[in-house]
Amino acid sequence: MKYCPNCASLLTIKIPDDDSRERHVCESCGSIHYQNPRNVVGSIPIYDNQVLLCRRAIEPRHGYWTLPAGFMELGESTSDGAARETLEEAGAHVDIGPLYSLLNVPHAEQVHLFYLAKMHSPEFSAGQESLEVALFDEASIPWDELAFPTVKQTLEWFFADRAAGILDGEFPVRSRDVLPSEKI
Ligand code: ZN
Repeated sequence: MKYCPNCASLLTIKIPDDDSRERHVCESCGSIHYQNPRNVVGSIPIYDNQVLLCRRAIEPRHGYWTLPAGFMELGESTSDGAARETLEEAGAHVDIGPLYSLLNVPHAEQVHLFYLAKMHSPEFSAGQESLEVALFDEASIPWDELAFPTVKQTLEWFFADRAAGILDGEFPVRSRDVLPSEKI
């Protein structure tokens, strides 16, 4: 952020009075423009024993596989956003279930949330941001071609929890912080 969205003056980076962090401050109109992490919301679409993945048609990680997910829009809930992204990227209508994983990605200034989601039929299609969309059972997941650490971790948790029968009852939200050094 370089210019004030209110008055188009050049912004200054400084610590405002009564604050402890540097902010983008407009010396001209006096406004302070706070920046906060963004929410990435997505789903784990499940049909029979399989999970639906999308191969990305956009950067970053063009050509790599991901769970359908994207930035939350203003005015929607996290679960609504997860359903919307699943429809946009994977062409799949899902029933969004419980929140499954929450991953903090401080270095990317993001929080990723994934919901369990039920597909009623194996109907899906690649949206504009996907090269292809496909169902995978655990043995066929392209582990070496996943797009993001949060997707890999969510899938690892999911298959382990499913094998342990945990997903049939009450279960805790899986959560951890992702380090900058983590690579797929
Ligand atoms: Zn201003």
